Amino acid sequence: MRADGMFIAVEVDDAAAADAALAKRLTEACPVDIYAQAGDGTLELVERNLDECVLCRLCLDASPDGVVRVIKLYDDGAVLA
Ligand code: SF4
Repeated sequence: MRADGMFIAVEVDDAAAADAALAKRLTEACPVDIYAQAGDGTLELVERNLDECVLCRLCLDASPDGVVRVIKLYDDGAVLA
């Protein structure tokens, strides 16, 4: 799944997004509520909050390597590492 704001896009591996435990960790980790859980526990991306991203990397720390990509659209699509 992917959602795009004006400055930031977030991409999450589809299989991982279906993992309720991972969705919970991401929801708890992000200080600006870019991640949420749907009624069935799967991950949702909150589009209206995307551009609030503070590049804190907490979502990257909360997930296995490569599952979450924070893309800096304002920087030619550079991926937060
Ligand atoms: S880098 Fe920080 S603010 Fe941005 S999506 Fe990840 S947890 Fe949220």
